[in-house]
Amino acid sequence: MKRQIFAPEHDAFRATVRSFLAREVLPYYEQWEKDGIVSRHAWRAAGKQGLLGLAVPEEYGGGGTSDFRYATVLAEEFTRAGAPGLALGLHNDVIGPYLTGLATEEQKRRWLPGFCDGSLITAIAMTEPGAGSDLQGIRTHAEDRGDHWVLNGSKTFISNGILADLVIVVAKTTPEGGAHGLSLLVVERGAEGFERGRNLDKIGQKAQDTAELFFHDVRVPKENLLGTFNGAFVHLMTNLAQERLSIAVSAIAAAEHLLEITTEYVKEREAFGRPLATKQHIRFEVAEMATECAVTRAFLDRCIEDHSDGRLDAVHASMAKWWATELQKRVADRCLQLHGGYGYMTEYPVARAFTDGRIQTIYGGTTEIMKEIIGRSLLG
Ligand SMILES: Cc1cc2nc3c(=O)[nH]c(=O)nc-3n(C[C@H](O)[C@H](O)[C@H](O)COP(=O)(O)OP(=O)(O)OC[C@H]3O[C@@H](n4cnc5c(N)ncnc54)[C@H](O)[C@@H]3O)c2cc1C
Repeated sequence: MKRQIFAPEHDAFRATVRSFLAREVLPYYEQWEKDGIVSRHAWRAAGKQGLLGLAVPEEYGGGGTSDFRYATVLAEEFTRAGAPGLALGLHNDVIGPYLTGLATEEQKRRWLPGFCDGSLITAIAMTEPGAGSDLQGIRTHAEDRGDHWVLNGSKTFISNGILADLVIVVAKTTPEGGAHGLSLLVVERGAEGFERGRNLDKIGQKAQDTAELFFHDVRVPKENLLGTFNGAFVHLMTNLAQERLSIAVSAIAAAEHLLEITTEYVKEREAFGRPLATKQHIRFEVAEMATECAVTRAFLDRCIEDHSDGRLDAVHASMAKWWATELQKRVADRCLQLHGGYGYMTEYPVARAFTDGRIQTIYGGTTEIMKEIIGRSLLG
C-alpha cells in the first residue's frame, strides 16, 4: 500500500536526513560503538543541519513545526541506517516537549538555543534502581531551602546520561504527596554534587551512552523548577504519549527494514539446490511478516496524522507502542532465524537489529504497563 501521509516537503527532508547520515554518522558509527558513546561533534553537526528542535519555535532557533511527520522521517531514517546511538529522537521527541511546553520564558531563552544548535544535549531521569514502572516508588528527593532545593538520590539507565548537559530529574518534593508530590527539576552539567556513574554495558545500542546518575546535596536553584510544583506526574503522563509514539514509529520502521533485508537474503541464499525463497515455509514466514507489517503500518500512519493534528490520546499511543514494538521483536527473531548462522554474526545488519531493538518493549513504559493503561481505560 502506498503511504499517504507524506508531502513533497517531507520527502525533501528525508533526502537531507539521508545525506546527513551518510556524511556525519555512518563513517564514525563503528568507532562510536567501540567507545560506547557518540561524539559531541555529531550533535553540533545535527544542529547545524536543522535536525534538532524541529518543534521548537523559530525564535529560539528551532524548526517551528508541530508536524510530527518530520520527526517520523528522522526516526525512520536513523532506524533504517541502524544508527540508534545518536539519540536525536530522545532529545527532540521525548525531552523537547518538556522544554517547549513547560519552561518559563526565561528558561526557554536559557536552554532552547543550545538545545537546537547541539551544544546542549539533554536527558530525562525518571528511573531509579528501585523504581522503574512504578514511578511512585521514586526516592530521589529535594528539600526546600528557600531560594533553592537540595537534591539527593540516584537514577539509573539514563539515556545520554554521560553526554547530557541538562538533565530533567523527577524528584520527590513533598514526601507525603505520593504521585502528586513529585516535581521536575533541571540539573545542569557542572552542578556541585552531580556525578555520573558507569556508562552501562548493554547487549545492544552500543553507541548510546546509558548511565547511572548520582546527586549528593546538589543545590538546584528555584529557577530550575520545570512546570508546576508537585506537578511532575501530570507532566509525565501528558508527554509520555509522544515518547511512546516515537518508539512505535521506529519499531515499525525497523520491522519493515528487517523484512526487506530478509526478503533479499532468502532470494539469494540457496539450500538443497534451490533458493530458500522457493520453500513454502520460508514463503509463509515472509508472507505473514509482510501482512503484519502492512496492518501495523496503517494504524501507525493514522496515529502519526492524529498526533500531528493534536488528536492522539494516551491510550492509542500505548496501543501503538506495545503492538509495534512486540511486532518488531517477533520480526527480528524470525528474520534472524531465516539468515541461519549468518544472522548471529554482528557484521550482518539483522544481528545488530535484533540486539538494538530488544529494548523497545521495555523503555518508555513496558508492554505490560501499556496494556495496564489500555485496560484501565476500558475497564476502570
Ligand atoms: C537502554 C535503556 C535506556 C533507558 N533510558 C531511560 C531514560 O532515558 N530515562 C529513564 O528514566 N529511564 C530509562 N530507562 C529505564 C526504563 O524506562 C525502565 O527500565 C522501564 O520503565 C522498566 O522499569 P524497570 O527496569 O524498573 O522494570 P520493572 O518495573 O521492575 O519491571 C520488571 C518487569 O515487571 C513488569 N511489571 C511491572 N509492573 C507490572 C504490573 N503492574 N503488571 C504487570 N507487569 C508489571 C514489567 O513490565 C517488566 O516486565 C532505560 C532503560 C534501558 C534499558
